[in-house]
Amino acid sequence: MSDHVDGNVLAGPLLELFREDMTTATARCAACGDVSVLATAMVYDAAPGWCVRCHVCGDVLMTFVRAAGRLRVDLRGITALEV
Ligand SMILES: [Zn+2]
Repeated sequence: MSDHVDGNVLAGPLLELFREDMTTATARCAACGDVSVLATAMVYDAAPGWCVRCHVCGDVLMTFVRAAGRLRVDLRGITALEV
């Protein structure tokens, strides 16, 4: 059994942030340069947020933390995001 889910679980939080479905957006991994749709990312659901890892190298692409009614996003593992 896998310890993570795919990037489709990010549809809700990404929609909240970007106001459109971002699971089909492509992201370039800052660590390995892979360019893939976000739906292929490995998502680790560790409340109160998510850790999103590159499906090729496993480095962190982004993190989401929901706290005090706010959604905080760290995108430092992505060098380009294309919708
Ligand atoms: Zn990577």
